[in-house]
Amino acid sequence: SSSRQEPTGLSASSSKLNGHVPNGTSEQTQIIDDDKKFTPDLAAQIERWGFRNAGFNYNIVAVFGSQSTGKSTLLNRLFGTTFDVMDETKRQQTTKGIWMCRGEGMGVMVMDVEGTDGRERGEDQDFERKSALFSLASSEVMIINLWEHQIGLYQGANLGLLKTVLEVNLGLFGKRVQGGPQSRTLLLFVIRDHTHVTPLSNLQNTLTADLTRIWDSLLKPPALEHTQLSDYFDLSFTTLPHKILEAQRFEDEVALLRERFTMKGREDYLFKDVYHKRIPADGVALYMEHIWEQVQTNKDLDLPTQQELLAQFRCDEISTTALTEFNQQAKSQKRTIEAGRVIEGLGGLMRDWRDQALARYDRDASRYHQGVYSRKRLDMHATIASTLSPLFLGQLKNLHKACLSAFKSALHAALDHDGYNFAEVVDKARSNYETKFQEGAKEACIEEKEWSWEDDMGLLREEMANVADICRKDETKKMVNLIERNFKKQISEPVDVALNKAAPDMWDRVLGAFKQSLDNAKSSYLNKAKTFNCTEDENAIALWSLYQRAWLALRAKIDEQAADNAILGKLRSHFEERFRYDDQGVPRVWQPDDDIDGEFRKAKEQTLALVPLYSKISPVDLSLEYTPPPPPPNTTGSSALEEDFDFPSSLIIFSESKCLDITARFRRDADAYYVEAKRSTVSSIAQ
Ligand code: GDP
Ligand code: MG
Repeated sequence: SSSRQEPTGLSASSSKLNGHVPNGTSEQTQIIDDDKKFTPDLAAQIERWGFRNAGFNYNIVAVFGSQSTGKSTLLNRLFGTTFDVMDETKRQQTTKGIWMCRGEGMGVMVMDVEGTDGRERGEDQDFERKSALFSLASSEVMIINLWEHQIGLYQGANLGLLKTVLEVNLGLFGKRVQGGPQSRTLLLFVIRDHTHVTPLSNLQNTLTADLTRIWDSLLKPPALEHTQLSDYFDLSFTTLPHKILEAQRFEDEVALLRERFTMKGREDYLFKDVYHKRIPADGVALYMEHIWEQVQTNKDLDLPTQQELLAQFRCDEISTTALTEFNQQAKSQKRTIEAGRVIEGLGGLMRDWRDQALARYDRDASRYHQGVYSRKRLDMHATIASTLSPLFLGQLKNLHKACLSAFKSALHAALDHDGYNFAEVVDKARSNYETKFQEGAKEACIEEKEWSWEDDMGLLREEMANVADICRKDETKKMVNLIERNFKKQISEPVDVALNKAAPDMWDRVLGAFKQSLDNAKSSYLNKAKTFNCTEDENAIALWSLYQRAWLALRAKIDEQAADNAILGKLRSHFEERFRYDDQGVPRVWQPDDDIDGEFRKAKEQTLALVPLYSKISPVDLSLEYTPPPPPPNTTGSSALEEDFDFPSSLIIFSESKCLDITARFRRDADAYYVEAKRSTVSSIAQ
């Protein structure tokens, strides 16, 4: 029994039938009714019979023969089917049409073709032809059932029937197409009511001769002129004794014949692979329906085309089904992507969805016409890719965003620490997030040929560079500000000291301190700038700006010292030192004889001589004269530079009218001292 053919999943599926169908899997279905209509239920029935996932693992057999020759009786015995048998007592003819049953405990679909005995009635010849076409298009084995006494009678139904079979077969399978349906069919002649008078071999010879003659007489298209009967058919012959007269022998021989349908290992096994029409079980119903439609409308039945049509239809259906789950899976992650989040392992997910969908498709569709199957697979793959593409692009976008913002944070975090090397910080963060992006993008890119992420990576690189650039400029500015602050601190005291005490070389000391501090500032800028990857141009501009700002800072410092009150104070104390103190620094007590006027004039003139000294920055030692460096090239529009900064005029501390004003105000102060000195002598005289 191990050699019995059992389609996979047969028993599992048939258990679903309980309660539905009274006779379980043996229920018969009229697939073509009296009105020659094809049943809409065949697909469901085939599924109920458990053939849904059988693939090619099933067989189809059909019976042909005159009416009431015991066909249905034979099928029921051979396959355990339940076809109607004519009631002997009523001699009532069974319903015409084509019936189908599943073989009991066998992966076989059995077709009982009724009413093929219409030789007298013209209309039935039409049905005979159509049902022959229909059966040959799908059956592996066609049982030709006939009485022994019909053999050799060159008239009557049987010959016409044989002629029909051969003719329609030629039409169906005449065109041999690579990859088309297999064209070979087994004709199994079952000779009924065999009397043993004539041995089987004689009957066999007669039938073979008849068939060959019919074949030769057929009108064949030129391309098929030399084809032999044996190119299309294998012939097999067997006899059965009279069912009633030799009841037991009849049963025994039927049982033996049954074994030839069930025992795959036997040499005379009838369902040879070569007869299989290679219609996947899940497409049989649709295929038969199409065939019948073509037959009914008297269209040319071209099986290769039919198989291709079937494949298109079924592959579409299978693809749609396989895509349903896929679409749900893809949809499940859409929200997350649209919300701007990066999905960890998206590529793995998408690859699974895709591969599972394709595997579902392959499982069922790969049995169909290879060209169609492959073409639809490409279509399906394209559909899948275009469904997944927005997820991929969204993931890239989100990755890009995430990496850029992480890059920014990393920069700022690193810059909050002292002693960072800007260029190093940037390099590290950039390579870190470049790698992150690349890894994420590669993982998500499951259609390597169609999709790419390199451009996005380039864009990210550019944006990171921009961010780093802005950051660098900010940091450079901060650094320059710091240097400027230090510079101001450094010059503050020397300038105060130098300007407080007027001396001919006071500007030498101021400029000396200035140059010293400027050198410090310059070298601390250059030291720091090295870690910023600043360009030569940027350094030139920054230094130029630093020089300007240093000069302006110096000027501001000088202006503090040259403010009206400050300068007048300086003049006053200079004057006082000379007028109110003697050469030894001892305060003078004026005596009437003293030359107050002379001393006064001398002190005043000496003091007034300071005004021009203060009024212009000009060192004694000309080598200390400061000349600002020329503006660097390529600096147009740079905000670091003050366009209308006029260095020469910045050397002037007091204008001429300012000098006059200061002189006048000082004179008034000096006059007051003079008056005070005069008064003191008057009062000393008065004492
Ligand atoms: P079908 O019309 O070809 O399907 O024939 P049926 O199976 O309905 O049988 C027609 C009649 O022939 C019935 O009365 C059967 O009992 C009878 N019958 C069935 N098998 C045999 C057989 O081997 N020999 C004879 N003589 N009668 C049979
Ligand atoms: Mg019958």
